[in-house]
This record gives sequence, structure tokens and C-alpha cells, in this order.
Amino acid sequence: MKTILMMYPKDSDGRDEVFDEMKKEISKRDDLRLEIVNNAEDIMHRLKINVHICALVYDWDSMGMKIPHLVSKINDYLPIFAFSLTHTAKDLNLSDLLLNLHFIDYISHEGKDNLDRIGKAIEAYYEKIMPPFTKKLIQFTKEANRYAYCTPGHLGGSAFLKSPVGAYFYDFYGPNLFKSDLSVSMKELGSLLDHEGPHREAELYIAKTFNADRSYIVTNGTSTANKIVGMSIAYQGETLLIDRNCHKSLANFLMMCDVKPIYLIPTRNTYGIIGGIPKSEFTTEVIKNKIKKANALAKKNNKNNTPFKWPIFAVITNSTYDGLLYNTDYIKNTLDVKNIHFDAAWIPYACFSSIYKGLFGMSGKAIKDKTIYETQSTHKLLAAFSQVSMIHIKGTYDEDVMNEAYMMHTSTSPFYPFVASAETAAAMMHGNPGKYLITSSQKIAMNFRHEIKKLNRQNVKGWFFDVWQPSDIGSHAKCWPLKNNEKWHSYGKVDDDHMFLDPIKITVLTPGLKHGKLIDFGIPACIIAMYLSNLGIIVEKTGPYSILFLFSIGIDKAKSLKLLSAFIEFKREFDANLSVEKMLPNLYSEDPVFYKKMLIQDLAKGIHGIYKKHQLPDFIYKAYNVLPEQHLTPFQAYQELLKGNVKKCNLKDLKNNICVEMLLPYPPGIPVILPGEKVTDESENILKFLLTLCEVGKYFPGFATDIHGAWQEDDGEYYTKVIKKS
Ligand SMILES: *Cc1c(COP(=O)(O)O)cnc(C)c1O
Repeated sequence: MKTILMMYPKDSDGRDEVFDEMKKEISKRDDLRLEIVNNAEDIMHRLKINVHICALVYDWDSMGMKIPHLVSKINDYLPIFAFSLTHTAKDLNLSDLLLNLHFIDYISHEGKDNLDRIGKAIEAYYEKIMPPFTKKLIQFTKEANRYAYCTPGHLGGSAFLKSPVGAYFYDFYGPNLFKSDLSVSMKELGSLLDHEGPHREAELYIAKTFNADRSYIVTNGTSTANKIVGMSIAYQGETLLIDRNCHKSLANFLMMCDVKPIYLIPTRNTYGIIGGIPKSEFTTEVIKNKIKKANALAKKNNKNNTPFKWPIFAVITNSTYDGLLYNTDYIKNTLDVKNIHFDAAWIPYACFSSIYKGLFGMSGKAIKDKTIYETQSTHKLLAAFSQVSMIHIKGTYDEDVMNEAYMMHTSTSPFYPFVASAETAAAMMHGNPGKYLITSSQKIAMNFRHEIKKLNRQNVKGWFFDVWQPSDIGSHAKCWPLKNNEKWHSYGKVDDDHMFLDPIKITVLTPGLKHGKLIDFGIPACIIAMYLSNLGIIVEKTGPYSILFLFSIGIDKAKSLKLLSAFIEFKREFDANLSVEKMLPNLYSEDPVFYKKMLIQDLAKGIHGIYKKHQLPDFIYKAYNVLPEQHLTPFQAYQELLKGNVKKCNLKDLKNNICVEMLLPYPPGIPVILPGEKVTDESENILKFLLTLCEVGKYFPGFATDIHGAWQEDDGEYYTKVIKKS
């Protein structure tokens, strides 16, 4: 509920009667709560933990500007009421006047008048911080008491209330969600597909917030945002330059459009963590070579295809899943491609902290003769409903064509709460409240990193988890550059001033690998991930010996401490060699016969042993070193699938077959084979890598690897689809 903070005057020389009177008035209102605080620290503490506070009342004569100055650090929009006697001097600076500060004379007003004034300021406050579309939608929802004869058929929820199961569903979400799920025929709210009215205002508001020339709200995820951008640029027969570390949705885009991809190849380390695309890959010379090679291969395969040409479009995943950001200024200036698209699904917050300057698509100014696109999954790391995504653009582009592609992928019945949550996610990042949010999560992340390191140092003789980060991270959050030949990142040679690690993406390392080599003792990360999951802690991603945690703005100290204590508890139980049944009850229940009496150390030894036998880290490294041969474009391969010119193939026999599906193993979550590609002798490590992953699942029930594009049959073997007649 809306809360007013009140700090009584220090001296009770009659002034507190004015406060008493206000207190009485507030208690008569059932839409307001009052919290009494005693000092400045109290105020700050309350402001940090109660975001419903919408006004502060205090005595100016004893505290002066001290209070507003403090408050503005957390919330520079908050209405503050300073009570004072008329004759008190008010020594104010120009910047003080920018705060939402109101003076009220002790003598001249009644308690009720004072509260009326405060009430108006509270209204103005919400008016100011609420973004335009959301404001209209809420207002419209509150006022709507109409008889609709249009979609959605639930009619503000009333259809649900005619059925027992419907009513249960309705009660779970509450009325407002249904009332604000409106038909596109409501003229007052404009249109998402035509970018009109309040919807347009929302997109302009978002563009301004994210430093873009123009932004689009996408209500079906960055999966769709990526396709929209691609399809607004790439036309038939053109060559595109695609990050091999691309999201599935880009592979899908390549299957939908008759275009010819060539790839930018990132590095990877033995942890399976994808590094960056080296600087050289962006140079004209290297790209020309790639085109030449692609044309030579096409000729060898006797294809009557149009040749590969200079690319008109390039896509780079920035940041990577694991939190590596590029020096985007270098890419924008070096890469001689007209349209550069940064898939920024993982960093929608980059615009709101100075540590990311120069490391994301919309950072800085427009680049001459180039158009920069950035797609972001707002829902992944800001606060928005799932599927909420944004496209940001800087530079010139054809708005009509863009909108054609946009409409091609957008439902004619968009869900308005999605739109409102996109806009609210942007509004949350405004001003000091936004800064406070992002610095808090950075602080918690830094603290977590230091704690793990501390525990690691205390366990020099035994083992403990480690963090993937430079040896000295300092005390303040910043993006750490990957420097050439530094041991920690284990990429070996890297370009200067090119890749940076984001402090809020934390990769925790488990024992098993040292300087790129497998050591005798190891605890594969999948075991710990399973242990954490039993405690209700869901990790973001698990590699062979690494686990990724995202410290988004939703994180708080309690959650971070819970994670730390879980690590400590795991170590204690592991060292005591408890049973699998005790430590991993979920796993145990999957196959009680197999895991009966098995101890946790034996399980770790077993899986570590398989990784060792197959030298898994080495394979991860090599699997991505040589690309498979492209025989068909993803588009052509998909056409063959439609025609039915495909057959089932055991992964073991995959060599020299043309794949139809994208094969994408977790870890590291990057496609190893794209549709139309063939594993040959040169790239056979890909196959060995996939088969190793399959083997773990065969020996240890519950640890089957997820390989998108392949499936396991009752015989225990993995299969995928390949071209029947090429
Ligand atoms: C998750 C992700 C996407 C897709 O985003 P959704 O919002 O889930 O559709 C695209 N690109 C990258 C790099 C991603 O990680």
C-alpha cells in the first residue's frame, strides 16, 4: 500500500502537534499507510526495503537539505515535504530545486489541507514515473465498464466466471490481468502493429531510454526479434555473415530465407566456455578469404548456385551466454558490412551502467553509412513478462520494409500486458532508482565472487569451488578485459582491448580441470547442479566443470547467501561421502536400483572417469575448431525436409551424411552442425564430442545429455535426420 514516511521534529516545542494532526488524518484514509522513522539512517533503510513509499515528511528546521540529498541517491523523484517556520532561511542550490521538494509552513495549514497537498504530490509523482502506454492502459482498465462485443472472448474475465474451472483460474490471477487484456479494436490505445497512439509513445519512450533512434516492442521473444531484423534486410541469394555462436532462432531464420551464410568463428576454452570472435575475423581480408573458400567448396560440389558475395548483413552475439562482451566500437568501425546486428538477448541492462560503455550495440553515436541493430530479451535480465523483447536501431533504414517484416511475425492480437511490461521495464531503469537497482545487483555479485575466492583460499589443502575471473578483481564492479595469455581465462592468445567479462555473470568452477588438463580428482558440475536443484536453486547453465549463475536485478543478499551456504554444505556432505540417495534424492528416485548404495564420491569418480577417458575438454575445444562442410544452405536443407528427402541416421554413422537438423548440445549450447552441413574427416572431432556426451547418459541414468536435433530411442542409441539422396 502507498506509504508515507514521517520523521518528527527533534524538539517538541509545539511543532510535533502539526505532525500529530497529520498522523490522525492519514489514519482516516484506507489507501495510505504511515511509517514513523527516527533518523536519516531509518529513512534510507525504509526506502531500500519498501518501494511503496511515495512521500516523506520531515522537519526542515532541524535537518535542512541533508535529508533530501540522502533520499535523492536512492530516489530522485520522491515527493519530500519539509515543514518549517516562515522565517527560517532556506539556503538552496539550483540542483536542490530539481528535487521534488515542497515546503509547508508550520503555521498556515490544517492537517487535512496538508494531507491534500501531499496527496496531490503523490499523484503527480506516479504520473511522472509511470510510462505513457502503461498509464493509459491502467487508466482505461480502471474506467472500463463497457459492454464489449469483441475479442478477447473472455470479455474482461467474465467468461471465466461462468465455469468452476474458469473461476479457479480467474481467481488465481486476479481481475486486473483479464481487464487489461484488451481487444485491438480499442482505438484509445492505438496499435502495436501500426505503431500508433500510446503504442507509438511506448516505443519512442523505450528508444529514448535505450539510446536508440528507434525501438520496436516484440511480444514473441528475441527469437522473433532476430527473425524480424534479418528478414527486413536479407533478400534472396544474398550472403550473410553469422556468428557461429548464434542462437537457434538465427539458424531458423537461415532456414526460412534463401540466403547464403558464412560464419564468424569464435574461440572456446577447455571449460567449454565460448570466447569471442577474434579481431581478425572482422577484417575485410579474412572475410574475402571466407567467401573465396565457400565458392571453391560450392564449385567442388558441382552446385549451380549463385556465388557467395560480400555480405550485406552481419550478426554477432553480444554478450555471449557466459557474459563476455565485445568492444563493439571496434566491430562497428572495422566490419565493412552495411547492417550490423548485435544479438544482445543477455544484456538488456547494458545501457544503464557506465561499466558497459563501448561494449554494446546502442552505446555511443551512429556510425556513418552503417545501421546498427540490437535485439534484447527484456524478460531475461530486466523485469518483464516472458517473451518480452525489443529491437533497437541506430542509423538509417526503411521503416516501411521494417514494418512489413515486423507484421509478418507479429500476431494481430497482441497481449497488451506484454507491451506494458516492456515499457515498465524501461521505466524502472530511469533515474537514480534504476541506477540503484543495477549497482545493488553488481555489489551482490562482487561480494559473492569475493566470498567464493575466500573459501577457496581457506581450503588450499582440500578442494573448494572457484570462480572464473581475473586474479585481482578489485572491490568495485567493472567489466574485466581478457588479456593475452592470462591463465585464468584459459583461451591462451587473445586480442587486446577486445573482450570483457561482465561482473554479474558468474561462472563457478568445480574441481577437475587445471590449466586445461583433467586432473585425478574431479566433481563434474552436473552433480552439483542436481544437488542445488534439490534445494530449489535453479542454475542457468551447466558445463562439464562449470556452472553459470546470473545475478540479475531480482537477486538479493538472502538468495546469494543461500547459494553460498549450499556450496559449503555440498562440500561438507561430499567430503563425508554420503550416499547418492541422501544427497541427490531426485536422481535416486529416477533409478533406485542402479543408485542403490552408491556413494556420492563414486558417482563423481564415475562421471569424471568418462570425461577423462574421452578427454572431453579437449574435444569441446576441437569440436568447434573446424567447421563441417556446408553442402546445402540451411534453406535448401529445410526444403529437402519438406519434400521428404530425409532418412534416420545413427549418430555413430553420421560421417559424410548431410544433416537436416541443427545439432546443438548442452553444454555449451552452440550449434555444432547446421542444416545442410556434413561432417567429414577434417571435422570428425564434432562427432567424437557428440558421442562422448551420449555415452555419459548411457552409463549414468539421469545424466543424459540434451542434444537438440537428435533423439534417443529404446535401443539407447541417438539418431538424427540426414538427406536421403543428395
Ligand atoms: C535466449 C536468446 C534468444 C531468444 O530470446 P527469447 O526472448 O527467449 O526468444 C536469442 N538470442 C540469444 C543469444 C539468446 O540467448
